[in-house]
Amino acid sequence: MHETAVAESILRTIIEQAKQVKAKPTSAVISCGQFNALNDEVMGFAFETAAAGTVCEGMTLEIKHIPLRATCKKCHTTFEFDVYKPACSQCDSEAFDFEPDAPLLLETIEFED
Ligand SMILES: [Zn+2]
Repeated sequence: MHETAVAESILRTIIEQAKQVKAKPTSAVISCGQFNALNDEVMGFAFETAAAGTVCEGMTLEIKHIPLRATCKKCHTTFEFDVYKPACSQCDSEAFDFEPDAPLLLETIEFED
């Protein structure tokens, strides 16, 4: 499962950081795009399972979903792509190019004082 692999990879990174700052991590924020989107519930469970017995046990993980953006070929407006209204937000044109999807990113880690 996608989420399990992601959870394990994120966990390794957080444990490395925790070793460096010699503190227990309390929370972390990750962000993902739309094509590689994570399911919050599955991800939360996968992370909790992977974190059990490590320095990360009990920490919270927040997932930010970054919307997919597109640029209109007609008026060059960049807008947030809405699957229910796949058209330019300015001129309603349906001719547009997708911007690169947001990568999966570990944004911040909070540690105990
Ligand atoms: Zn437009």
